Amino acid sequence: MSFVKGVSVAEAAAVIRAGRLVAFPTETVYGLGANALDGAAVERIFAAKGRPRTSPLIVHVDSVEMAHDLAARWPDAAETLARRYWPGPLTLVVPKRAVIPDIVTAGLATVGLRMPAHPLALELIRAAGVPIAAPSANRFSELSPTTAGHVPESLADYVLDGGPARVGIESTVLSLVDAPLLLRPGVIPLPEMEALIGPIAVAAAPGTGPHESPGMHARHYRPATPLFLLLPGERPPLGKGAWMRMGREMPENALDYAAVLYETLHRLDAQGLDWIAVERPPDTPEWAGVLDRLRRAAG
Ligand code: AMP
Ligand code: MG
Repeated sequence: MSFVKGVSVAEAAAVIRAGRLVAFPTETVYGLGANALDGAAVERIFAAKGRPRTSPLIVHVDSVEMAHDLAARWPDAAETLARRYWPGPLTLVVPKRAVIPDIVTAGLATVGLRMPAHPLALELIRAAGVPIAAPSANRFSELSPTTAGHVPESLADYVLDGGPARVGIESTVLSLVDAPLLLRPGVIPLPEMEALIGPIAVAAAPGTGPHESPGMHARHYRPATPLFLLLPGERPPLGKGAWMRMGREMPENALDYAAVLYETLHRLDAQGLDWIAVERPPDTPEWAGVLDRLRRAAG
């Protein structure tokens, strides 16, 4: 399959309709998308990424109405949060309808739905006329791409270039199947969502407990270079390395930090260093998404 990079939504939509894969921009990271209603097309995503079939995919929609059509049940809290945050970096897990093939959700009876806030992503879903299932456009366990240039050449049949991702880390994932449960932190602070729908429980860190949800693999988001998450006064190992300190190499503000995090890791990872030393950000709601990705990157 020939690899095409371009800016044509019409061409990209034709690739989706043909059951093939398109890497496309969202505001969080670049996604590797397929027609979410076509199980054979979605199979290609798992094969291309080397992603285990136990890891469910997020289904991208172009409207709250499209989400209604895919959900078997749409709780009031889902409506409230979607109306407040969509289009935006929030994935809502709800019971799924049968139109969504089991491969999309790793056999779960639930589906993660999100309306992305990138004009090209929304145009692509509209032009394809179907919801698009998409994980990040990287091989399994590698760093997520935040530019079209980061997307590995062999992954997609078409790469739609929409510039650098504005948010820079993956979406907040919130399950509304039972009592609200945060499965993955992102850039939306937990107290802000709690003010809208009431208390939200936080899922145990991946790999640590019996409640691990499918897809929460601890080895996600890892650069090849050893990364050390250091407290003040702690020192990196010997050898050649690079620092990522808040207010120095990195921004002081959590949103700005998230926006450049993967770009920075991609760049440093290409330098053949012995270590990357990261000054640990504060453990506050604003930093939860960034801290989660740094912890996973440090392993
Ligand atoms: P990614 O691995 O970046 O593609 O993000 C997908 C993540 O969304 C998974 O790792 C899961 O944590 C979460 N997710 C998606 N769908 C579901 C679902 N049906 N149930 C629970 N978690 C889900
Ligand atoms: Mg990913």
